[in-house]
Amino acid sequence: MAGTSTGIGELKGIGPRRAAALERLGVRDLGDLISLFPRRYEDRRARRRIAELADGETACVSAMIAAPARAVHIRRGMDLVKARAVDETGALDLTFFNQDWIRDGLVPGRTYVFYGRAEVSGQRRGMASPVVEEEGRQEQTGRIVPVYPLTAGLSQGALRRWIRQALDLCLPDLADPIPEELRSRYGLCRIGTACEGVHAPGDEEILGRAWRRLAFEELFLYALALSRRRRGRDRARTDPVRDVDLGPFYAALPFAPTGAQRRCIGEALSDMRSGVPMERLCQGDVGSGKTVVAAACAWICQRSGRQTALMVPTEILARQHWASLSGIMAPLGTRCVLLTGSMGAKERREALGRIASGEADLIVGTHALISGDVAYADLGLVVTDEQHRFGVAQRAALREKGERPHVLVMSATPIPRTLALILYGDLDVSVLDELPPGRQTVSTYAVTGAYRGRIWRFIEEQVRAGGQAYVVCPLVEEDGSDGRQAVTAYVEDLRRGVSPDLRIAYVHGRMKAREKDAVMGAFAAGDLDVLVATTVVEVGMDVPRATVMVVEGAERYGLAQLHQLRGRVGRGTAQSYCVLVSDARDRETRERLALLTKISDGRRLAEEDLRLRGPGDLFGSRQHGIPGLKAAGRGMIDAALAGEARRAAEELLTADPDLSAHPLTAARADALLSGRGGSVDG
Ligand code: ADP
Ligand code: MG
Repeated sequence: MAGTSTGIGELKGIGPRRAAALERLGVRDLGDLISLFPRRYEDRRARRRIAELADGETACVSAMIAAPARAVHIRRGMDLVKARAVDETGALDLTFFNQDWIRDGLVPGRTYVFYGRAEVSGQRRGMASPVVEEEGRQEQTGRIVPVYPLTAGLSQGALRRWIRQALDLCLPDLADPIPEELRSRYGLCRIGTACEGVHAPGDEEILGRAWRRLAFEELFLYALALSRRRRGRDRARTDPVRDVDLGPFYAALPFAPTGAQRRCIGEALSDMRSGVPMERLCQGDVGSGKTVVAAACAWICQRSGRQTALMVPTEILARQHWASLSGIMAPLGTRCVLLTGSMGAKERREALGRIASGEADLIVGTHALISGDVAYADLGLVVTDEQHRFGVAQRAALREKGERPHVLVMSATPIPRTLALILYGDLDVSVLDELPPGRQTVSTYAVTGAYRGRIWRFIEEQVRAGGQAYVVCPLVEEDGSDGRQAVTAYVEDLRRGVSPDLRIAYVHGRMKAREKDAVMGAFAAGDLDVLVATTVVEVGMDVPRATVMVVEGAERYGLAQLHQLRGRVGRGTAQSYCVLVSDARDRETRERLALLTKISDGRRLAEEDLRLRGPGDLFGSRQHGIPGLKAAGRGMIDAALAGEARRAAEELLTADPDLSAHPLTAARADALLSGRGGSVDG
C-alpha cells in the first residue's frame, strides 16, 4: 500500500531526471507532492459555442474536427499545424506552433474540447495553440485548474497528472493532525477533503474551504509548537543583573543613540533585571543599528560579572563585529575575544583559555562558539545576529553553554506583523523602527543587462568621487554553487570594461576564509574600489564609504534578500545607489523588482511581497523559507484565523498537556520547528 512516504519514483512517468527536477521543488515523496500547493488557478469552466466567442476571450469550445490537420512549414524552426473544428454555430481555425505531434491527436469526426484565447476578425474565429482534450475525458479543461510553481524540466500537465495519482494513492488513509473535536468546533474539513480541494477544486466554495483548513492547520501547528516550547522553557529564576547606569556606555559611543535604540536597550535591561531569563527579539531594518543594542546588553551583563557570546553567521562578519565592538568597548574595560573556525591552533588555544578563565567578557564568533571544546566561565547572555541564518538547534546549543543565560536574537528579516505574531509567539519583541539620522534612501533602479556598460561607467564616476562599489554575481546552481565561475568571468569583463586604475577584487565560496577575510578587510579599509562577490556580502557588512550596489541576476533573489543586499550601501551620509540587473521578462519578476525601486522600508516591502507571492519566497530561497507556512501565507495571513488557530492550540494543550493522546499532532508540530525545510526563527 502506498503512503505519503512512498518515493515519487513509484509514479508513472517519473525517471531520475524528473525526480531530480522535482527534488529542486523540495519534492521527494508522495506526501511532498500532495503538499506542493498551487501558486494560482485558472478558471477554465467557461464554455462557449463558436459563434459566441468574443475577441480576446479565453474559454472552452467543444467542437468536431472537420478535416485532417495539415502541417505547414514556415521557415527553419517554425512549423505549424493547422486544423479546422466545427460546431452547430460555426467553424474555428486552430493553429499550433511547433507541435507537430498534435496532428495525429486530432482525428477527423471526433469531438474535442479546445481551451484557449479566441481571436475574432470579421467572420473568422480562431485559437492559437489551445489546450486540447478529447470530449468526455477532460482533465485540464472545463474546470478550475491549478497552476504549480515550476522548475526546468517539468510541465504543468505532468505535475497535474502526478499529483492526481498521488492523491488517489494517499488520500484514503491520510491521517489528520487536527483532532476531530477541534475540526468540528472550528468548522474545518478533513485533511483529505482539503487536499482534494486545493488540487482539484469543484468550485470556489470548495476551494475556499480547503485553503482555510490548510492555513488553519499550519497556524495551529505553529502555535502548538511555540506554546510547547514556552511551557517547557526553564522558568527557574536567574540572578537579576545589577542596576546599571548606562551613561558611561552611551558616552563611549561615537554617536548619540537613536530613541529606538534607547528604548530597546531599556526593554532588555528591565528583562535582565526581572529575575527571569530574557527571551527577546530585536527586530530592525538593515542599518537601524542593532549592534549597539547587543553591545549595551553585553555591557549590562558584564557589570554583573558574567560573559556574553555574540554569534554571527559568517567569519567576515565576526571579525568586523569584533573589531568595531572592541573599538567602542575596550575603553569601557570590556575584554573582547574573537573565536572563529579559521583561527590557527595557537590563537584558538589562547582564546579558549581566556573564555574558560573568565578573562573574556564579550566573545564574538561564528558557530565555532558552540563547538564542544569551548567552555565558558559564566555565560550570562547569548546573542544571535542575523537570526534567520541560524537554525533553532544552533541557538539552543549556544544557550546550553550557559546557566539559564539571557537570550537576545537580532533579525533584520522584515516580517509582517501578523506573521511575526506567529513566528515569534514565544519571544518578547523590540522593534528598532528608527534609522540613525542623516541616512538617505538608496536610489534603486531595475534595468536589463543592456545597461551594463553604463553601470560600469557609473561605478567609475562614483569611485572618482570617493565611493566604493559592490557587484553581486549570482550563484549558478550548475557550477557547484560556490559562484567561482560567475565571479571570475565577471571580473575579467569588468577589468576590460573600466579604467585600469580601478582597484578590483573578488570573493567567492571556494576561497579560504583567510583569503576572503583579507579581501573584505582591504575593501572595508578603503584599499579596494570594487568588490565582486557572491552573496557572502549579504549579511551585516558595514562599509560606510560604499555607495553602489549592483546585483546581477536580480531575479534569482527574493525581495528580502535584495533588500538586505541594498542595505550594504547607504550606511554613510553620501547618496547611494542600488542597481538591480535582470533580463527576466515575466511579470512577477518585473513587479517584484519594481517594488524595490519604489519602497525603501523593509517592513512595507515584506507586506507587499507577501501579497505578491506568499511567504515561501520571503527569504528568496527554499533554504530560508518558513517551513510549514505555505497555505497560511496566500495573500495576507488572516489575523482572525491565526487567532482561532492559537486558541485551538491552547485548548488542545489544556486537555492534553504533553500531547500523549495526539502523537501525530505532536510530531508534526515539532517537525515544523526543527524541520528539514530550513531554519526557523522563534
Ligand atoms: P544593523 O546591524 O541593524 O544593520 P549596524 O548595527 O551595523 O546596523 O549599524 C549600521 C551603521 O550605523 C553602523 O555604521 C553604525 O556604526 C551606525 N550607527 C548605529 N547607530 C547609530 C546612531 N545612533 N547614530 C549614527 N550612526 C549609528
Ligand atoms: Mg547587523
